[in-house]
Amino acid sequence: MTSVLPHQKAKALKPGSRRPAKELCSECGLCDTYYVHYVKEACAFIHQQVAELEEQAHGRSRNLENPDDLYFGVNQKMMAARKTQPIEGAQWTGIVSSIAIEMLTSGKVEGVVCVQNTAEDRFQPMPVIARTPEEILAARVNKPTLSPNLSILEQVQQSGMKRLLVIGVGCQIQALRAVEQRLGLEKLYVLGTPCVDNVTRAGLQKFLETTSKSPDTVVHYEFMQDFQVHFKHQDGSVEKVPFFGLNTKELKDVFAPSCLSCFDYVNSLADLVVGYMGAPFGWQWIVVRNDRGQEMLDMAMSQLETQPVMSKGDRKNAVQQSIPAYEKGVTLPMWAAKLMGVVIEKVGPKGLEYARFSIDSHFTRNYLYVKRHHPEKLEHHVPEYAKRIVSQYRLPE
Ligand code: FAD
Ligand code: SF4
Ligand code: SF4
Repeated sequence: MTSVLPHQKAKALKPGSRRPAKELCSECGLCDTYYVHYVKEACAFIHQQVAELEEQAHGRSRNLENPDDLYFGVNQKMMAARKTQPIEGAQWTGIVSSIAIEMLTSGKVEGVVCVQNTAEDRFQPMPVIARTPEEILAARVNKPTLSPNLSILEQVQQSGMKRLLVIGVGCQIQALRAVEQRLGLEKLYVLGTPCVDNVTRAGLQKFLETTSKSPDTVVHYEFMQDFQVHFKHQDGSVEKVPFFGLNTKELKDVFAPSCLSCFDYVNSLADLVVGYMGAPFGWQWIVVRNDRGQEMLDMAMSQLETQPVMSKGDRKNAVQQSIPAYEKGVTLPMWAAKLMGVVIEKVGPKGLEYARFSIDSHFTRNYLYVKRHHPEKLEHHVPEYAKRIVSQYRLPE
C-alpha cells in the first residue's frame, strides 16, 4: 500500500516562478496544480534523483555493473510482445490501452490517467482521468507533443479515488513519484512508455512540414527500427522518410529544450514499460520493473503472443559517426539516404542492440546540449548511468 503523507497547502509563488525549470520545463503539468509547492524537489529538470526514486519504487536502484540495468533500468523481465488482435488506431498494437482497460474493468483501479486529444486538433493533448473503457480507448495513439498529464492530480484528490493507474512518459513519472506519497492514494500503478525527441505543438508543425509530403493528413508517426520515420496518413497510406535524409539543420531547434536535456528515455520509474525499440519490427518491447508491473502485465497476457528479446549487431561505430554528422547538420541527398537506410537495415543493430543505438545517440547529443547550454547543471543533472554510457564515445568540445 502506498503510504500517505498529509498534503500541505501550497504557498503563493512569486510572479514568474510558476514554471521554475524555465526553458527546460517539459510542461509535465505539476505546476498547474497545488503540488507546485513541491516543484523544487519534484521537477525532473531541477532535482535529478532517478537513483533515489528507483529505490523507492522498485526497492533498489539500477546496478551500473549489469549491462541491461545500465541501459534499460531496474528490470525483472524483458520480452517482445504483440496483441493477437491489435486495437485499430493504437500507436502499435494497443498493449498499453488493453492493460489499462483490464485494470479498470477488473476493479484493480478506479480511474486511469491518460491523454486524449482535443476535438479541434488530433495532436493537441488533453489529459483526462478515464473511468470507462471507451474513455481509455479514446486516449489510444501517441500525442507526440509535450503533455501536461499531471495537471489532473488535483482532480484525483478531489474525486476521492484511492486506486489509480497513471500512464505517462519519464519526466511526468519522475515528478509523480516525487509527490506520490502526498496524493492520498492507497495504490498507485504506473504504466510508462519510453519517450524521446518530444516537441511543442508549434515544433510538431515545423517537423511535419519539413519532413512529410502531406503534413495535414498525418495521423501518427514513429521513428522506426528500420531507420526510417513512418508517417501514417488519413487514407491509411504509409510514407517512409529515411533518418539520414532528415533536414538536420532545420530540425535542430524543433525538439523541446527539455527533451534535449532528458536522460530518462526508458522511463526508469514506471512499474511496467511498453515501447518498441528493443523488439523486432512489428513487435512491442516490454520491461517489467517490479511486482506491480508484473501484476499489470498478467492482466493482458492472454491477449498477447510473446517471444524472448534478442540482440544482434554492433552499434558503436554507427553512433560514433553520427555525432559529428549531427553537429555539422549533414543532410544526405534522398537517394543516398535511402541507400544508406537499406544497407544499415540489413547489417545494422537489431533488437536490444537497436535500443542501445538509440539510447547512445540521444544521450551523447543531449550531454553535449546540456554541456553547452547549461554547463552549471551538467554534473548533477546527468545521472551516473548516462555519464557511463556517454563516456564510451569521443565527443567534440
Ligand atoms: P496505445 O494503446 O496506442 O496507447 C498509447 C498511450 O500513450 C495512451 O494511453 C496515451 O494516454 C499515452 N500517451 C499518448 N501521448 C502521450 C504523451 N504525449 N505523454 C504521455 N502519454 C501519452 N517507444 C520506443 O520504444 N522508443 C521511442 O523512441 C519512443 N518514443 C515515444 C515518444 C513519445 C512522445 C511517446 C508518447 C511514446 C514514445 N514511445 C517510444 C512509445 C511508443 O511509441 C508507444 O506509445 C508504446 O509502444 C505503446 O504503444 P501502444 O500501441 O501499446 O499504445
Ligand atoms: Fe513544473 Fe513539470 Fe515544468 Fe518542472 S517540468 S517546471 S515540474 S511543469
Ligand atoms: Fe519528457 Fe524526456 Fe519525453 Fe521530453 S523526451 S517529454 S523530457 S520524457
